[in-house]
Amino acid sequence: MGKVKILAEDIVTLISAGEVIENPSSIVKELIENSLDAGADMIDIAINEGGIRSIAISDNGSGILREDCSICLQRHSTSKISTREDIDQISTYGFRGEALASIAAVADIRIITQTEEEVTGSQIIARFGEIPKVTETSRPQGTTVEVTDLFKNIPARRKHLSDARVESQRIQEVVMKQAAILPEIGFRLKRDGNTIIDCPPNQVAGDRIASLWGIDIARSLVDVDYSYGNIRITGFVARPPVSRGNRSREYFSILKRPITDERLSRALETAYSTTLMKGQYPICALDISMELSKVDVNVHPTKREVRILDIERVGDAVKVAVRRAFGVTDIIEETSMQSSLDETTDIERKIKSGETSEVESQFHHKGQITAAPLIEQSLLMPSGDDDDGGEVDFLGGVFKILGQMHNLYILLESEEGLLIVDQHAAHERVLYEQLRTEVTQGRVAVQELLQPFILSLSPKDAEQIVELSETLENIGFTITSFGGNEVSISTLPEILGRVASETELLTLVDRILDLGHTEAADTFMDNLVKVTACHSAVRSGQSLNTDEIRDIIIELSTTKSKFNCCHGRPSMIRIRKEDIDRSVGRMGADAISRYKARHGLK
Ligand code: ADP
Ligand code: MG
Repeated sequence: MGKVKILAEDIVTLISAGEVIENPSSIVKELIENSLDAGADMIDIAINEGGIRSIAISDNGSGILREDCSICLQRHSTSKISTREDIDQISTYGFRGEALASIAAVADIRIITQTEEEVTGSQIIARFGEIPKVTETSRPQGTTVEVTDLFKNIPARRKHLSDARVESQRIQEVVMKQAAILPEIGFRLKRDGNTIIDCPPNQVAGDRIASLWGIDIARSLVDVDYSYGNIRITGFVARPPVSRGNRSREYFSILKRPITDERLSRALETAYSTTLMKGQYPICALDISMELSKVDVNVHPTKREVRILDIERVGDAVKVAVRRAFGVTDIIEETSMQSSLDETTDIERKIKSGETSEVESQFHHKGQITAAPLIEQSLLMPSGDDDDGGEVDFLGGVFKILGQMHNLYILLESEEGLLIVDQHAAHERVLYEQLRTEVTQGRVAVQELLQPFILSLSPKDAEQIVELSETLENIGFTITSFGGNEVSISTLPEILGRVASETELLTLVDRILDLGHTEAADTFMDNLVKVTACHSAVRSGQSLNTDEIRDIIIELSTTKSKFNCCHGRPSMIRIRKEDIDRSVGRMGADAISRYKARHGLK
């Protein structure tokens, strides 16, 4: 007896409806899910021209019985659920019986399949708009589904597809996400004849991630395994500073289903707290297991989102799981960092709610709220050995170098008061203007590396960065493919050469790839110069001696836009002595002489 049935009308109405096929990657996702539901442990995917020309997925799963062949392409035909109750406990990826029907509605399909119980296999050919034909054929047990000429007869939708490269990358992401969660299943992806993902079945989880994300990220990964009541979080997180410039490596899955969920991302990012630079995002592959009945997968037609009862608790579990994975020391570091942050926000809150004196709110209006309270807390920590600290000419005056605060701000004293300079923003501005000029004049100072950096990236990133190599050459990078996922970097812009490390370059590559080089060439180049300057500049948290401070200030004084960093944020603030005097109730020289007179002091 056949296994596939058409769902009853009343059940169909309970299923979230909507378009399943948005682009080639949605087809790949649906077909992979079908193979997994069929119990396959090896899934081979081959795509051509971004999957628009063709997609072929072969598995070694159960196969489809001959009598099911003619109905499995119909809408709402499924072997996976049949009753209302089934919908509350969906343990398979598929359940809507719509994928094959939706694909057949927008492309040509050929399925070749063989079950264990039948002697001959079946071939189904469904041409766009025609009744499917089923014939005999043979193959080893399993199923191959070929989809060709997507949206051939729907030009309006075909027009909305991106170019083959972008569609290929989407497919690659889909395969990578699924492969990351299921190390026991083998995945192979061929793109236009070249194998770009090759993961054998039954891999150890760590090896699987390494083959997908590259060895460098894999080296920084920490195991996560944490239970919180019935919720268990398992997988990996990357130890900072290894990170990405966007959320694309935040892999979450629930009950081994890849999902994206803003709240989980936020919980994860909170766990990292201040350990990542601004604009950097964590890298993780975390699976959440919990009772099936607390998860509703029937909320989004493409199953990209699921509804989780108790999402708050799951978010908390993610947070604790990640913090624990980083170990006790990280927790202490983190909480102390967090509490110092909290103090600032507390002050900010007071100011906002009017609990502070007028003077403090004046500071607030001038955007100086953190400066004043922090000084009150005597958190000034001048660095450098000598007492007088040295002097520097700047902005038409002479400033005494007091030192640094929190290894973050340079403190300069003048007659007028205090100048607080953001060390990173200032240095970044210097390097940006320098490199910008060098690029415009076509004479970028380049540093040849005796030993090139070899970076292992994900296959997708490796390909993309090599594609950009010609443009990158203009700013001093020589990047070539080193075979497989590896690229070699043999020259760097000189300003970067001074500080470059492997980790640094990996982050830089990420940021470059995030720039999206589809924008105008000169904007791209300007952004490239910005990220390069940013990576070459002294960091927040780096301690500087007086000479280094002086050098930065002298260089800054020669720049055109010294008051802003290259992203437009202010790079310095001024606090007038008068304002400090007033805020502590000191009325200046007159007040002192009145006081002395009253008390008969000289
Ligand atoms: P669903 O997965 O929601 O059941 P689909 O349209 O994706 O709906 O598939 C319809 C049916 O075809 C499935 O229920 C399954 O019985 C059968 N099928 C599809 N792909 C495969 C496969 N690769 N191996 C075995 N059976 C398959
Ligand atoms: Mg399906």
